[in-house]
Amino acid sequence: MTPYSNDYREARTRLLAAAEAAGGWTHEAIPHPLAGADGGPLSMDVLWRGPEDAGRVLTISSGTHGVEGFCGSALQLQFVGDAPALPADTAIMLVHAVNPYGFSHLRRVNEDNVDLNRNFVDFGGALENDAYRAIDGLLNPSEMPEGALAHIAAELGKLREATDFLSFLKAVSGGQYEFPRGIQYGGSGPTWSRRTVEALWRRRLASRRAVVQIDLHSGLGASGVGLLMMAANDDEPHKALTAEWFGPMMVTPRPRSRADTVLGGYMNGAMETELAGVRVVPMTLEYGTEPGEIVMGAMIEDNWLVHHGEIDSARGQAIKARLLRAFYPEAPDWRAAVLERGRTVFAAALAGIGAPDFEERLNP
Ligand SMILES: [Zn+2]
Repeated sequence: MTPYSNDYREARTRLLAAAEAAGGWTHEAIPHPLAGADGGPLSMDVLWRGPEDAGRVLTISSGTHGVEGFCGSALQLQFVGDAPALPADTAIMLVHAVNPYGFSHLRRVNEDNVDLNRNFVDFGGALENDAYRAIDGLLNPSEMPEGALAHIAAELGKLREATDFLSFLKAVSGGQYEFPRGIQYGGSGPTWSRRTVEALWRRRLASRRAVVQIDLHSGLGASGVGLLMMAANDDEPHKALTAEWFGPMMVTPRPRSRADTVLGGYMNGAMETELAGVRVVPMTLEYGTEPGEIVMGAMIEDNWLVHHGEIDSARGQAIKARLLRAFYPEAPDWRAAVLERGRTVFAAALAGIGAPDFEERLNP
């Protein structure tokens, strides 16, 4: 049976039922203060399998970007059904719906219009994004007449040609902390999801020796391709190690300064900070869906809809449907490729974490 679900409620219910049926999993639901799109309760759910005192943990999280949870949740459900053998002294922790509000309400951002992967920043520090400020009016219009998206895409194309790629990327995707109704808003402080997941890490992971993290995303890259991404410098041992486990990955050097940061505020970066003393291998598995301008257009339209439109109108529903499909394609070949790649990555991660010399390699 397909592990793909039609809404947050179904995805959550099926995952918990599969864990119950498989046996060996413990479950903790962390309630979210708001209601789902169906009026029902929301939660971040934590499933744990393996020794409570395991020295090594593989953790796989879904739905950091709300609507991307459809893809991530299906991968988690397949993984539970596969019931993979656990190496000695190793446990698995699945975190379902880091951003349950966005998952349920079909938003990439959370209840505060915040992109969670821009929220894990030091809010006491400097957070200006001048390049975004200049284009907020373009990306965050109060009116969306017919043809508006094509106009925005054309203007972005001009901007792209007039500037270098990293500056362009920082402007449109780098996170901004000034326009709460804008695109790529990073928030005014730690969100519910950030506070909850950081507390979870401290509670469940801080006493481990090594943690391998895979945060599941969709919406960036070539359609159906699952690219593993990580921030690491060449001299860090986990860069060579993960290359052996997975083959080609997209590894970006760590920024040397705030000015050097293109995309900051990632959950994975915060996990490394929070779990000081634990060897953390923080990765993102990102699946491509549609071309970038389609995905960006869907985000812009959805942002307009939530702040200026009517979600229940015919147009509102059409925008919601486009957003869903930009991050969760229906094509059977896409869905099959996602599952196959996920199975391969999770198996390689478990084999890697279970290798006798794993910790030795991480601590040369
Ligand atoms: Zn994402």
